[in-house]
Amino acid sequence: MNREGRVTRPETGGTDSEFKTFTGNRALMLEEALLFEVGGTDRTGVDISPAPKVASRLGGLERAAPIGLYGLSEPEAVRHYTRLSRQNYGIDLGFFPLGSCTMKHNPRLNEKMARLPGFADIHPLQPVETVQGAFALIYELGEWLKTLTGMPAVAMSPKAGAHGELCGLLAIRSALEARGDARQVVLVPESAHGTNPATAAFCGYAVENIPADAEGRVDLEALKARLGPDVAGVMITNPNTCGLFERDMSAISDAVHAAGGLVYCDGANFNAIVGRVRPGDLGIDAMHINLHKTFSTPHGGGGPGSGPVVFSAALAPFAPLPFVEKDGANYHLVEEETAGEHHAGTFGRMVAFHGQMGMFSRALAYILSHGADGLRQVSEDAVLNANYILRSLEDVLDAPFAGTGPCMHEALFSDDGFAEGFTTLDVAKGLIDEGFHPMTMYFPLVVHGAMLVEPTETESRRAIDQFVGALRSVAERARAGDPVLKAAPVFAPRRRLDETGAARKPVLVWREPEVVAEAAE
Ligand SMILES: *Cc1c(COP(=O)(O)O)cnc(C)c1O
Repeated sequence: MNREGRVTRPETGGTDSEFKTFTGNRALMLEEALLFEVGGTDRTGVDISPAPKVASRLGGLERAAPIGLYGLSEPEAVRHYTRLSRQNYGIDLGFFPLGSCTMKHNPRLNEKMARLPGFADIHPLQPVETVQGAFALIYELGEWLKTLTGMPAVAMSPKAGAHGELCGLLAIRSALEARGDARQVVLVPESAHGTNPATAAFCGYAVENIPADAEGRVDLEALKARLGPDVAGVMITNPNTCGLFERDMSAISDAVHAAGGLVYCDGANFNAIVGRVRPGDLGIDAMHINLHKTFSTPHGGGGPGSGPVVFSAALAPFAPLPFVEKDGANYHLVEEETAGEHHAGTFGRMVAFHGQMGMFSRALAYILSHGADGLRQVSEDAVLNANYILRSLEDVLDAPFAGTGPCMHEALFSDDGFAEGFTTLDVAKGLIDEGFHPMTMYFPLVVHGAMLVEPTETESRRAIDQFVGALRSVAERARAGDPVLKAAPVFAPRRRLDETGAARKPVLVWREPEVVAEAAE
């Protein structure tokens, strides 16, 4: 509705010939106006008595005119946000095949554990003696992460994967500086996640690409040829973003170490190998683990991340503070470096306190409810599901690396074979009409029109078959050049948006329609 209370027809839904409702609603899925259009400056959901007169101490800086904030009555407020929430898509609604994101189910048991008052209702400045249980939890989770990765040290505080990368590279830089070796270059494969070169550049390194070989893996010979006294290290994602295991990882680590550099592994895809491969056995010096991917803590707008980093013995002295130590039955917090101790070279802190407590409790609940054998089953099932999708669709979608063997946790397709003018974007939009969140698209960059599908282990055979059927149908339409696909999504509340315009010229402030009209004249 507009401010006069008249209903304005939203530019939504359907081809021109399609029936449009008076309200813009689609059955019981209601079209939602902005709260500025629903509410008014004279409305509020609360009823407070006028404030008592007090002498102002603002020294003439009092607000002269009303601030003009829009308010809603309580039912308006409740409905506005409930309707918006119904337009949201999340892992609790349906399949979320976003590659490289590991959008798995978040078990409700985790939520229950995270809400226990001893974990949820504590403060980071509380005396350590009063929060021993919380420190026991952080310590135990750290021990699991060290065991699962085969690495001797862990920093729990980084708050996301990219934050963990920063933590790892700061430790690498400190280690190199400690030996008086200010190297300038970090090597990153072409298929790297965008956060890798961004992190290296943020740390002040020059970033250089290493090409991929014909099988989608790091070109070992090209890497070896580039190593030298200026190379601080490499950042390698394993399994990589083409969904492939880097088989040469040990040889890569050996070559980098022989040239005096250090090895960072992006462990965001750990879900594919957890319980089966220990990165510490592959010569890695630092690796972040996304608790919000592998260990099922909510993400994608649903919760904060958490990216603990494991370290090799060579890097452990440079790991950040604070960390939890166990002393008999007691836990204490090491907050400052101590000369001569094993952490004497620490580069400092990543965060003010200890990290994402709510994610730690969820991740440990997940780990303990699976156990070591259950975690191994997780990675096996995740890989099995991805290969099932790869093999079910390779007759309609080009799968560039399928000929080289099975994939890991995600299946990669290209746009090869679509009709003239049809793109990966059309397929993604068509999937929305079919009721699926689109897969990751146009990433990794090494494949044209890439479509990266990661089912995770938590989808059933029935759910995956339905997705395969939908993607098959949409892919066939893209191959046949179906013009209706070009108009997709047909059934969504909004059609194709001007994404470039929204990014380049964002309109971030709502203005009264009259003001906009005047400005246009
Ligand atoms: C998700 C992801 C990251 C970044 O993790 P955030 O928690 O989003 O910062 C880095 N690398 C890879 C391969 C990823 O999949």
